[in-house]
Amino acid sequence: MGGTFDPIHVGHVLLALAAMERLPLDRVLFVPAADPPHKDGRTGMAPAADRCAMVELAIAGFPGFALSRLELERPGKSYTVDTLRQLRDAWPGWDLVLIIGDDNVAQLPSWYDPHGILSLCTVVAGSRIAADPERHGPLAGQVRFLDTPVHQISSTAIRLRLRHGQTVRYLVPDPVLEYMRARGLYSAGPAPAMAPAS
Ligand code: ATP
Ligand code: MG
Repeated sequence: MGGTFDPIHVGHVLLALAAMERLPLDRVLFVPAADPPHKDGRTGMAPAADRCAMVELAIAGFPGFALSRLELERPGKSYTVDTLRQLRDAWPGWDLVLIIGDDNVAQLPSWYDPHGILSLCTVVAGSRIAADPERHGPLAGQVRFLDTPVHQISSTAIRLRLRHGQTVRYLVPDPVLEYMRARGLYSAGPAPAMAPAS
């Protein structure tokens, strides 16, 4: 499961869990993108080290979940097809699955080498937006859709809430909340000493 994870939230974790239980999967790797081709020019992205640390906190101790730094260690842009090739070479004989939210299905044709991606793995899309096959674009027929619970949570909304001083409790795991506060990420500055928990 690739993503910017800026920050990771419970929507990511619950999607991974649903895919793991339903397919089922032996392992889920969370692969933070170093230099996401689709988010060029966005400012204020948290450093990769922080995004990784938050992934680790969110999945700590959960059997089968792991962080992968593959895309951070590879120079240049993060292309999913390269990550899949690396995983295939590292884990020969394993069936690879790319987990995405169904908001990404319509964008698949614009990803680098989508047919390479589809030849290396099964693309599995969990529910994120209202099911409407028309909106899923020309490659939808090659994607396996999983009817998973919809959690209307996004990293964008979390960053916005934090910028406005609103709580994101219950949207991110508590250890991630604490980390963001401690590091002052997304303007989630350290809580004042006697402030009520938010
Ligand atoms: P941003 O708002 O910055 O785009 P995001 O919440 O979409 O962040 P990403 O890191 O872009 O998170 O997403 C990684 C993957 O997780 C994508 O395939 C995306 O579709 C999926 N995903 C993210 N949030 C959800 C959610 N709430 N439910 C299902 N899938 C999700
Ligand atoms: Mg997104």
